[in-house]
Amino acid sequence: FVAMSSEVDKAQSAYKSKSTIFDKIISKEIPADIIFENEKCMAFNDVNPQAPVHFLVIPKKQIPMLDDASEGDQSILGELLLTAKTLAKQRCPDGYRLVINNGKQGCQSVYHLHIHIIGGRQLNWPPG
Ligand code: 5GP
Repeated sequence: FVAMSSEVDKAQSAYKSKSTIFDKIISKEIPADIIFENEKCMAFNDVNPQAPVHFLVIPKKQIPMLDDASEGDQSILGELLLTAKTLAKQRCPDGYRLVINNGKQGCQSVYHLHIHIIGGRQLNWPPG
């Protein structure tokens, strides 16, 4: 028996659905520690941080996972990266990491595309 981490557990049982908890954060139905927002995207702190700095950048548009992104999403994908970079540079001047988990084996647990930005300590490589 090998105990799975709860994040792996969550990813095993997660699935695509019409709306996710992140839609409720976008609509302000549920609170989040929002650090940036414009018409197209939003950034907020992860509720279960894996490092001193751990926030997520998401599109307001529903794109369940990176697999679902298409040609037409070029500009939003670029905006997500640039937003992540701008906020990360301020919070983690000595370096940081961006992660996109995609699908079960990628350990995705929320099916609304998001970039993790992790930093504020020395990170290790390779990830688990
Ligand atoms: P994934 O495993 O899908 O790449 O990452 C989902 C992330 O969303 C996890 O790091 C998890 O802690 C975070 N998360 C899940 N639900 C909420 C929530 O309601 N609020 C916030 N701020 N983060 C959440």
